[in-house]
Amino acid sequence: MKRTNDGGARRIVVISTGGTIASRWQGTGYAADASGNDVLATAPLPEGVTVEVVDLFNVNSSRMTAAHQLALLRTVHETFADPGVDGIVITHGTDTLEETAFLLDLHHSDSRPVVLTGAQRPFGTGDGDGPGNLYDALQVASTVSDLGVLVVFDGRVHAARGTVKTQTLAADAFSDPSAERLGRVGFSRVDIERQPERPTPLPLPAAAYKAAPGNTGPGAFPLPRVSVVTHHSDGDPFLLNAAVAAGARGIVLVATGAGNATPEIAAAVADAVAQGVLVAVTTRVPAGPLAEIYTGGGAVDLVAAGALLTGTLRAAQARIAVLATLLAEGGSGDPARSTALLRRLLDGPVRAEPALATGGSRSASAVAARA
Ligand code: ASP
Repeated sequence: MKRTNDGGARRIVVISTGGTIASRWQGTGYAADASGNDVLATAPLPEGVTVEVVDLFNVNSSRMTAAHQLALLRTVHETFADPGVDGIVITHGTDTLEETAFLLDLHHSDSRPVVLTGAQRPFGTGDGDGPGNLYDALQVASTVSDLGVLVVFDGRVHAARGTVKTQTLAADAFSDPSAERLGRVGFSRVDIERQPERPTPLPLPAAAYKAAPGNTGPGAFPLPRVSVVTHHSDGDPFLLNAAVAAGARGIVLVATGAGNATPEIAAAVADAVAQGVLVAVTTRVPAGPLAEIYTGGGAVDLVAAGALLTGTLRAAQARIAVLATLLAEGGSGDPARSTALLRRLLDGPVRAEPALATGGSRSASAVAARA
């Protein structure tokens, strides 16, 4: 379906992927099943906007896979191959929206915007937030440029990088606990207050991973397993070692505090790294950067064991950074190259090192990542 308001001065493509914005009651609970056209029909169009809908898939986003996300990434690039398209809006479940948004952002080199949105309340309910969020997303997608991939929700405009789901049910579902939002949308205005920080975008990953339909030929490689393991009091390396034994090519260790675990876990990280596994360390704490402060199993030892600290990126997006690194390396498995690339994705743009309260040059580089 194509909908126009006022001559179609700005052409936006809406890619529908499911989520609560498309979810209806199934008798026992809600699940995504409304089409992109049905979802679009709930929202008014901003003036001067023409919309075309692509129904890519229809899933609750807790069921999202890397294969879905890569199909979406290719669809975004194919859509932008048409110079007449001015922007893209993606409707998506909120549960894993931050992961998809970040994967797209890491590969986004176009000045035209990609805007993800969704809803906390289901399709077709009188008090639903989907129509307003979709209207706002269309407004942003038809207005801004050079901001990379954005998340628009509850009148707020967020950068993909760093944004996480911070509310299970409330309408203001997203924020970056370590940074301000990029801007606001409402009353027919889009106000952008700052520029996002983005590393140089990656090229599209090679198509030669086995999840691509029919791709079983020589050179095809399986989508790499990237596992997340969380440290806690009483924690031991059991799950980390199990992930390596299951074939993980990347591991995100969700550490305590500013990036701390135990000497046993640091030893397990060293073993994993020696086997060519990429290890990134994030934290259970909602806000603030990782920092090399403590030994005795702390971030000092984890980094010495070969792990990379993730700046202010939290587990789900750190995992996407590791996945994107492995995909960019195309299964070639050169650990030194992978480590250098992952460091670039985690650090974002090169920035001056800030003065440190704790002192010590090792801490400086860790904090500089995204302080
Ligand atoms: N379960 C939903 C999902 O697909 C939640 C939502 O969209 O808000 O992520």
